[in-house]
Amino acid sequence: MESFDVLLERSTKVHGHICAGQVIGVRMSMLGLAAIGIQDPRGLDRKKLYVLVEIDRCATDAIQSVTGCSLGKRSMRWIDYGVMAATFVNLDTGKAVRIVAREESRELSKKYCPEIENKYQRQLGAYRVMPEEELFTVDEVHVDIPKEDMPGRPLRRIQCESCGDWVQDCRDVEQNGKNLCRGCANGKYYRKLA
Ligand SMILES: [Zn+2]
Ligand SMILES: [Zn+2]
Repeated sequence: MESFDVLLERSTKVHGHICAGQVIGVRMSMLGLAAIGIQDPRGLDRKKLYVLVEIDRCATDAIQSVTGCSLGKRSMRWIDYGVMAATFVNLDTGKAVRIVAREESRELSKKYCPEIENKYQRQLGAYRVMPEEELFTVDEVHVDIPKEDMPGRPLRRIQCESCGDWVQDCRDVEQNGKNLCRGCANGKYYRKLA
């Protein structure tokens, strides 16, 4: 595993700026990978690793950068809970941990960098040095990953009988005897202009 500083530098480049979320995301990933026995996430171990992130904020970019997992590779899944947490899964052994960034760490930052007045700068500094158990809660968990959510070729491609779009990965919905895309079944997020 590369050092914290190397990983933080890379994630900062990918993300576009340094922020507390980068520090949290890099440390969370290092902790998660160690806990499930992954040493070389972007190399030898890359096919063993699966990550579920629960928020679409800064730290998620850091998790992507450290683990090499991504939405496009289907090795990362975004579960839209709005919680600063991620679950790291070793697909080989089934071992998995869910790590949550503790809310208390925001206040605790005063203990480590009291001299920094700006709250965000203080958190950035403190999160680098704060012990893991003050920064995170770690739980060993079991995750069932559906076959259609795994990397690899799509299990199925179905044409929506309403709009004609092709739907992959079993995201089609049967409604009143018709195979539909989710948009046609549940309402679309967009509205076509004339
Ligand atoms: Zn950021
Ligand atoms: Zn459709």
